[in-house]
Amino acid sequence: MLDAIVVGGGPAGSAAAAVLAGAGCRVLVADRARFPRSKPCGDYLNPGCAGVLDRIGILGEIERTALPVPGWRIVAPDGAAATTAFSAGTGFAVPRRTLDHILLARAAAMGAAVIEAARVTALDRGPGWVRVTIERGVGPGGYEHLSARLVIGADGLRSAIARMIGAGALPRDGRFTVGAYLEGLDGTGAPGERPPGEIHFARDRFCGIAYLPGGLANVTIALPAGALRTWRGDLEAGYWTALRAFPGLAGRLARARSVGRLRASGPVGYRRRQAVGDGVLLAGDAAAAINPMTGQGMFLALRGGELAARAALRTLDQGGPTRRALAAYDRERRREFGDAFLVSRILDDLAFRPGAINRAVRAMAGRPALGTRFIDAVGGVSRAAAVMHPGLLAALLGIA
Ligand SMILES: Cc1cc2nc3c(=O)[nH]c(=O)nc-3n(C[C@H](O)[C@H](O)[C@H](O)COP(=O)(O)OP(=O)(O)OC[C@H]3O[C@@H](n4cnc5c(N)ncnc54)[C@H](O)[C@@H]3O)c2cc1C
Repeated sequence: MLDAIVVGGGPAGSAAAAVLAGAGCRVLVADRARFPRSKPCGDYLNPGCAGVLDRIGILGEIERTALPVPGWRIVAPDGAAATTAFSAGTGFAVPRRTLDHILLARAAAMGAAVIEAARVTALDRGPGWVRVTIERGVGPGGYEHLSARLVIGADGLRSAIARMIGAGALPRDGRFTVGAYLEGLDGTGAPGERPPGEIHFARDRFCGIAYLPGGLANVTIALPAGALRTWRGDLEAGYWTALRAFPGLAGRLARARSVGRLRASGPVGYRRRQAVGDGVLLAGDAAAAINPMTGQGMFLALRGGELAARAALRTLDQGGPTRRALAAYDRERRREFGDAFLVSRILDDLAFRPGAINRAVRAMAGRPALGTRFIDAVGGVSRAAAVMHPGLLAALLGIA
């Protein structure tokens, strides 16, 4: 019997598998996709991710592959803009197709067995064991059963494992996203300058931009379902019209064109689930998803995968992964991520109050140190709680 089966080879699953394999566990990762595979994402890793990437041994490779993101340019609905820099470290921008492949290859190099095109469709549990049914290919006989002492469900937002253990439902509300890789987007900085990421706000939507290697930019809009419906099925036309309506983008699109297809997804919103069941741990989006606006999802996935693996190692050593033994993992997640969830929910609410965003951006433009404190807290450079300081909030909202 295996020690652990990790369902999903995205960032959470690969990080978990790399840690488990590195500790000498017999671990297998099953993913329904074949890698390299794409995933709707803004392709941004916040500076907080560097620690996990370093501990699993791929920070150097990411530094060579990605573009650094030294900070953020935030553009308000009224066109006011503030460019802010992290006080330490850097974020990264790298297509998920590349990043996730590197992460999964790392898990394999550490000794994890990896099976692709392998969809987990059922879970049976007994004392000290968990058995998964894996569908491979099509047709009769295209499935197999594998058993392990525990399972880590890292199978993303629509997690089948979360559903199977009754951990809670998907977000019902939230915005829908439409993103594309653009070339020819005119920038705001001098040539050769390391461009910051950009986030542009409008009344009911926002647009995130990450500059990628090869002259491409990931440009993703998040908007309410009702607004998306008015595009009447013509995603391409709706996307370009929506881009032109952001005051900070209108004049920069003359040469821009999309490379590849537009990618739509959603709804994306806040959802936290119970992260443990008997013999099962959830990690990454399967355990909790937040609005992509704050760019924290990848950190929560990588760090969450690492925490899940460490919790798994503890319980395997101590004789068995019962729900009680695994409960410490849920507490640890709350301790480590609670602030980030709270900040994300507050920002989610503030983001669609144009007056507040206009004032906050002006305040950051006038006081760059304020902007740095803010993006440090959201980007994992400092504790997320740092942004909850009443003085900082008052200054940001232009009332102090
Ligand atoms: C539009 C959008 C933009 C975003 N932008 C950012 C950003 O710029 N920065 C950021 O930090 N976060 C961003 N996020 C959030 C981020 O993408 C997620 O938090 C992150 O992908 C979570 O990683 P994960 O490993 O938990 O799940 P995933 O990356 O979703 O990986 C899950 C894996 O599980 C596999 N799987 C699913 N079901 C099964 C099954 N039944 N059997 C086997 N395998 C299965 C899938 O094939 C997949 O490979 C964004 C999210 C969205 C939707």
